[in-house]
Amino acid sequence: MTELTYRYVALTDTGLRRTANQDSGFASSRLLVIADGMGGAAAGDLASSEAMHVIRRLDDELRGDPLEALAGAVSRANDRLSELIEEDPAVEGMGTTLDALLWDGEKFAMAHIGDSRAYRLRDGVLTKISDDHTFVQSLVDEGRLSPDEARHHPHRSLILRALLGRDDNDPDLSMIEPQLGDRYLLCSDGLSDMVDDSVIEETLGAETIDLAATELIRLALEGGGYDNVTVVICEMVEDGTPVDETLSSANGQPQLVGAAAEQARPRTGQAVAGEDIPAKPLDPEEVRYMPRPPTSRRWVRWTLTILVLGLVLGGIGKIAYDWTQEQYFVSSDNGMVTIFRGVQADVPGVKLQHVETVTTIKVSSLPEFTQRQVGAGIDASSKKDAQSIVDNLDQLVTPPKPTETPSDKKTATTSTASHRVDRL
Ligand code: CA
Repeated sequence: MTELTYRYVALTDTGLRRTANQDSGFASSRLLVIADGMGGAAAGDLASSEAMHVIRRLDDELRGDPLEALAGAVSRANDRLSELIEEDPAVEGMGTTLDALLWDGEKFAMAHIGDSRAYRLRDGVLTKISDDHTFVQSLVDEGRLSPDEARHHPHRSLILRALLGRDDNDPDLSMIEPQLGDRYLLCSDGLSDMVDDSVIEETLGAETIDLAATELIRLALEGGGYDNVTVVICEMVEDGTPVDETLSSANGQPQLVGAAAEQARPRTGQAVAGEDIPAKPLDPEEVRYMPRPPTSRRWVRWTLTILVLGLVLGGIGKIAYDWTQEQYFVSSDNGMVTIFRGVQADVPGVKLQHVETVTTIKVSSLPEFTQRQVGAGIDASSKKDAQSIVDNLDQLVTPPKPTETPSDKKTATTSTASHRVDRL
């Protein structure tokens, strides 16, 4: 029997309409993964990158039955999301899709949850090997919708299952027996929504998988680029086949792309303020998983803030300004966690917030996701509430790490050498 191995490539693009990439992709000689985060601007990338960081530990740690190992890793990724939600209820509702193929030297163990897709190309024929865990797919399964109708259904992106940090969302698990010459594609819906399967079939058969990946991304952008688009592709070759130096996987290094490869995005209160203004149409990605009510306190606060801005501009400044000065929030000032009095917005010529207390907590000493929250500003209902937020942050301070672990090093190398084509 022919011994097989595979070549691989991972590629992502933020797309033409989104400002951040919430997809994560990973490819190595043992593991192929894609995760498409959801839950709004603040949390989707957190969910996909955290899940990815847990799953990709399999790259170093495979022991025993691959399907059990994969199921265990998915479960740990789910636990990680659960932890994050417990630490910060504001990210409740975040989640991620996940498709992972773990190679044991002969077969792939596959885990799938959500609507990211896994395809196989064999002898020029494309077969979808994952079932979309979506509302429209359930209607197709019941014969109430044709696949083509599903494709254009207004609720096509509504997911019924995803990793959400809860215990009621198990992945589909299966084993796959590849043949020589097979190509496998894992992709986010940013590809499958924009590009027809028939075009994917043709494109996936390109001369090399690197060309296929580049072309698939290009086609998704040409098709509208409404969403982040990520592809992870592998091609089965005979073990011992000479390395093709023109391919990105020739160096044998893992490839990590998208949210999991990025550092915390610097954000300012102002930028987040703009994103959160409720008058802006709701990003469909925010309600991808079972619509949840908007975080009412924040909306109320923003509605009031906008009203106040209107009043300030309209000349009824004093009362409105006084109201803003009874508000508090916790954010960053010169790298230190700081309590501000006021609101996170300014009217030209009027400063609506000022520093109340600079704490001794360095923002950089906090976990990455908390740094982002602080960067975005955490609203407080009173000065006392702001102080208790600071106390909670104090509990999260982590001592500086003395050395990198080997796997961290690998990530850093991979990240810089990755094949991102994010829009500049
Ligand atoms: Ca997506």
